[in-house]
Amino acid sequence: MKNCPNCHAEIEENFEICWNCNYSLTENKVVEFEEPSEKKKDIDCLRCNVPLVFAGNFKFHEGTRFGILGNLLEAFVNRESFDLYLCPKCGKVEFFSPNI
Ligand SMILES: [Zn+2]
Ligand SMILES: [Zn+2]
Repeated sequence: MKNCPNCHAEIEENFEICWNCNYSLTENKVVEFEEPSEKKKDIDCLRCNVPLVFAGNFKFHEGTRFGILGNLLEAFVNRESFDLYLCPKCGKVEFFSPNI
């Protein structure tokens, strides 16, 4: 075991990057991992840590009754469409406005 000089977390001897703060022991600095720029978001389910699946773009028409989703969508009432993602494991649904 060795300790990260940046955050003092314990690191396995054969690791060169701190699991906690991404501090690289070979470069002596915190390294940023470049996210590949993909068309769709790469989002993990907060509960299951599995990637959410893009389920399509949903459009709402004026006067659409949101029903039980009303509370969830209240914040988006002035937007017309949403990208919908769902967790394949627990079924959690997330909406994202596509133009942000
Ligand atoms: Zn660290
Ligand atoms: Zn989930």
